[in-house]
Amino acid sequence: MSRRWLLCLALLPCAAQDVIQDWIREIEQSGGGQVLIARAGYDAEANEIRLAPGTTRPELFAEYLHQLAFVRELMAAQALTVSRQTPEEGPLHLILINTARIAGRRDVEEAVIGHELGHAWLRTLGYPAVAAGNSVANCLAIHATDAVQHILIRKELRRRGIDAETPWIATLNDALDQWKVRPLPAALTPCERIQTASQWVDVRLGLDEARWPRITGYEAQLKTRYPDIEQAVSGLAAYLAGQDVAEKEVNRRALLEAVRRLRALAPPTTPLKTNQ
Ligand SMILES: [Zn+2]
Repeated sequence: MSRRWLLCLALLPCAAQDVIQDWIREIEQSGGGQVLIARAGYDAEANEIRLAPGTTRPELFAEYLHQLAFVRELMAAQALTVSRQTPEEGPLHLILINTARIAGRRDVEEAVIGHELGHAWLRTLGYPAVAAGNSVANCLAIHATDAVQHILIRKELRRRGIDAETPWIATLNDALDQWKVRPLPAALTPCERIQTASQWVDVRLGLDEARWPRITGYEAQLKTRYPDIEQAVSGLAAYLAGQDVAEKEVNRRALLEAVRRLRALAPPTTPLKTNQ
């Protein structure tokens, strides 16, 4: 059975899969490498993260599921993409979906896969990303790259007719509802501080009151709880808003700037380098 059919049956409604499949084909045909998608969920009984049965080439994904820092990142995200170069096969884009965060929602899954394809697509086009290291440095690499790349991905998803905004807003509404029951913690780990800042920058740049009326409450709660993170977010969002990150050289400088500003929230233990 081809991967196309597996996707059609297991992941997406068939009507919605064409736009995703077209994009995967474009990436693969432009020499950008192979795209593989897997789903992983937390198995409470075994207390470990398990790949869904029938995953294509599970060994490629399993390698990352043995890395604690990666698993922590995945559990905090709806999906993560690992792009890597292999001597035998060239570039590989491994998209790993966290099923716990998707909760069976197919529209959310389409948006999430679309989003992750956005990262693979930017890599195919030669945009830079920060090379991931370990622990805090790994976290900084992911979220600094996200802050910059999400600007381009939001635009491209809209252009391709993939509605990522509705599920995004639903996730944010869920978070706001959660904060009523369980207030935001006063102290965050270094990685959580970086992640909070990066996601906050996304909201500043991607939404406004017309698109998401609850943005004022979101901002107010985060500002009260994390005034120092707010400062970093305001600075980085204002900076990025003034940059045409579609230009690769501008993008590269913006990425270094995002690293610099987010790093100030939690000094990393290992140096960072860009992949270009
Ligand atoms: Zn992303």
